[in-house]
Amino acid sequence: MADPQLAPLWDNFIDGRWSPGGAGRIVVSDPATGAPLAEQALADAGDVDRAVQAARRVHLSRALSDLRPIARGRMVQAIGRFLLAHRDEIARALTLEQGKPLWEARIEVESAALYFEYYGNQASTVEGRSVPLGGGYYDWTEMEPYGVSAQIIPWNYPLEMAARSLSAALATGNACVVKTPELTPLCATYLARAAEDADLPPGAVNILCGRGAEAGAALAAHPRVNQIVFTGSVPTGIAIARAAAENVVPCVLELGGKSAAIVHADHDLAAFETDLRWGIYFNAGQVCSAMSRVIVHESRADELIARAEAVAQSLSTGPGIDRAEAGPSMGAMVSEPQCDRAVAMVETAQTEGARVVTGGRPLNRPGAFMAPTVLADVRSEMEIAQSEVFGPVLSVLTFRDEAEALEIANGTEYGLVAGVFTRDLDRATRAARQLRAGQVFVNEWYAGGVETPFGGVGKSGYGREKGREALWNYVQTKNIAIKRG
Ligand code: NAD
Repeated sequence: MADPQLAPLWDNFIDGRWSPGGAGRIVVSDPATGAPLAEQALADAGDVDRAVQAARRVHLSRALSDLRPIARGRMVQAIGRFLLAHRDEIARALTLEQGKPLWEARIEVESAALYFEYYGNQASTVEGRSVPLGGGYYDWTEMEPYGVSAQIIPWNYPLEMAARSLSAALATGNACVVKTPELTPLCATYLARAAEDADLPPGAVNILCGRGAEAGAALAAHPRVNQIVFTGSVPTGIAIARAAAENVVPCVLELGGKSAAIVHADHDLAAFETDLRWGIYFNAGQVCSAMSRVIVHESRADELIARAEAVAQSLSTGPGIDRAEAGPSMGAMVSEPQCDRAVAMVETAQTEGARVVTGGRPLNRPGAFMAPTVLADVRSEMEIAQSEVFGPVLSVLTFRDEAEALEIANGTEYGLVAGVFTRDLDRATRAARQLRAGQVFVNEWYAGGVETPFGGVGKSGYGREKGREALWNYVQTKNIAIKRG
């Protein structure tokens, strides 16, 4: 049954107007119940073309890029304020379509707003430099926006991931076309409403949902797109990179991970319970930088496994909409196929010799619920230790010495984030340098924030989002040289 507080029909936002989709509509369902929630317009290649052409018109008109950066930054910040003003309404839509607890959805809205605050502030810091060429010349560089930025978004943090790219792209003067995910398109619609409210020129922000293979592929391959940011899976990332290469445009790929925490014998395991709770069970483990592997010194393995079991069992798992208060709770996964896939991966791990300490199965109730899971006796060569589960499944491995710990941690094709937990700062620094990852957490999983650059090495992708580094994805250096008369 549809939710009475959600509009029954959600349109795309193209060239400043609300539009139905050339590819019809898709039914968005609540993964906690399987019930339909609303219908979302689906863009086809024609809609994508209209959105890209509208963005290009804005770019060529210089309506954004000629603004004084501080004024453009204010508009970007206004988008964040709109999100905060509608926090509870957006969080409700997000929980219903994605499954996460309502309190986590509120955090996502607040985090999305923070990106607009941060990058709005950064708009006037994007500066060139003067280059000395001797007495006969003046020379300087300017940082120009690429023009049309195409952004393709995954379902796990649909609002925050869209905000992450959109905020930096707008702050640097790009016009944007955002392709939202088919499973969770509703909450990103509020970004379009926010752009309207912030008086951005029509066509500067286009938000459309469409199928990946149709609208996503059309956007990535569009010859008028000047830059692409993709957040999602490795196979799709490869397809995007190919499309970008065909048009000779740059792309940023933020892909998956199989990130590991190394826990040394001297670490405080009581404190580590907080890292376990957030690292693998936040958003039911559907986090690209989840702490999906813990590599613990063999002398502390039994204690760590017992603590992980207690953390997993302390979580109350059920419909996110009933979980408004922050606390030990987990919601549904995004869909039943996603839940079935995670359960099947645990079953394969068992056949390979892993031991299910707790969980490992769907909950005995309707909806895409998986019990918070801890696996012990995991070895590095198992599928569960190599492939992203994208679910609430922690794999515990053991090591004997530092070299072995690093070898296991670095032993996957991914390299998004990594962690090291120890009182010994020398050891932590050594590990941080040797861990093959774009970001290393020492003694706190997820330490950092919007200010700290984020992105992967290896199959986790390339380019950096967040922090000042992300600004350079959206601008290109132009050099201007003047011969003195
Ligand atoms: P996905 O690759 O299936 O889909 C991501 C987006 O790409 C969706 O909008 C989809 O419609 C679109 N898409 C699909 N096929 C396409 C095609 N051929 N051309 C263009 N677009 C296409 O990924 P997902 O299942 O939505 O997301 C989960 C994955 O995302 C996980 O691997 C996760 O680790 C990764 N992720 C990474 C980050 C990061 O910042 N590194 C953040 C969140 C999620």
